[in-house]
Amino acid sequence: MSAKVWASMAADLILGKDVSEKIYADLRDRIARLKQNGIVPGLAVILVGDDPASQVYVGMKDKKCVELGINSYQHILPADTTQEELMAKIRELNADDRVSGILVQLPLPKHLDESAVIKAIDPDKDVDCFHPFNLGKMIIGEADLLPATPAGIHQMMVRSGIKIAGKHVVIVGRSNIVGKPLANILMQKDENADATVTVVHSRTANFSELTKMADILIVAIGKPRLITADMVKEGAVIIDVGTNRIDDPTAKNGKRLVGDVDFDSVKDKVSAITPVPGGVGPMTICMLMSNTVTAAERRLTK
Ligand code: NAP
Repeated sequence: MSAKVWASMAADLILGKDVSEKIYADLRDRIARLKQNGIVPGLAVILVGDDPASQVYVGMKDKKCVELGINSYQHILPADTTQEELMAKIRELNADDRVSGILVQLPLPKHLDESAVIKAIDPDKDVDCFHPFNLGKMIIGEADLLPATPAGIHQMMVRSGIKIAGKHVVIVGRSNIVGKPLANILMQKDENADATVTVVHSRTANFSELTKMADILIVAIGKPRLITADMVKEGAVIIDVGTNRIDDPTAKNGKRLVGDVDFDSVKDKVSAITPVPGGVGPMTICMLMSNTVTAAERRLTK
């Protein structure tokens, strides 16, 4: 686990950057092994339109691929791309042997059917792991690809020496990309999981009574600093998934990134906590790279 950073602070800081570096070291070895067998992993990213945040995310993924020696194929399509044009692009990438993984950057423009697009991706190349086939495999404990953010949170805890088995994990938020898959990963019959999981959401009664019972509290709601010290148990582990951009007149661009947890009030009460930024964030792209390498490794056995 990370060292205590400030003398006045009781909690350990769990830093995604440190954990992800260890995973990247393993990935470099796996990529080298693939290359010895004539296989270069390839990630194809489709971006429809010119949403600035999506452009930043796509750029980050491209940079990480290049750093690791993964081929990066970017397909930037105009905002008025039709459903059929997008489906045709996915069919083309499904059939392309150079492409191990396909990712469609979400959200898509409103006129496009996101669910149909996700289902059109070959499940073997579904490195975001949003396809119902891969989500089904995850539920029955047979997954080889896992959704990036939940898998990253799991790896972060395991590799930081946080014991999950037998613990009461409370997850705040039930989205398809974080809360629901994470609950499944942590309740699997596995010595690195085996948690008792409670999921709470906006319709939950006695919300803070439940968060106060958590040995491990994971928050993914998108509400800046909603979770305060009075809502957590003494000595709990806190994983803050939230990324909220708030106004901050003291910041250079007038904005600051904060989590869903009120870090300053909570840090003195808990045993470990992820900061925002620098906590969960770096794990998501790391697990995407890991899924891309896993997808490429399938060709070793084909
Ligand atoms: P989402 O799809 O908007 O889902 C939010 C969930 O939180 C919903 O289940 C909602 O309940 C619940 N919720 C909202 N307000 C609540 C409240 N006051 N009390 C209890 N539950 C509440 O969000 P998401 O995509 O999961 O993302 C959540 C946060 O994580 C966002 O800040 C996002 O930016 C961040 N995120 C970060 C990463 C990363 O890599 N670090 C990755 C993904 C997401 P209902 O279902 O009842 O509406």
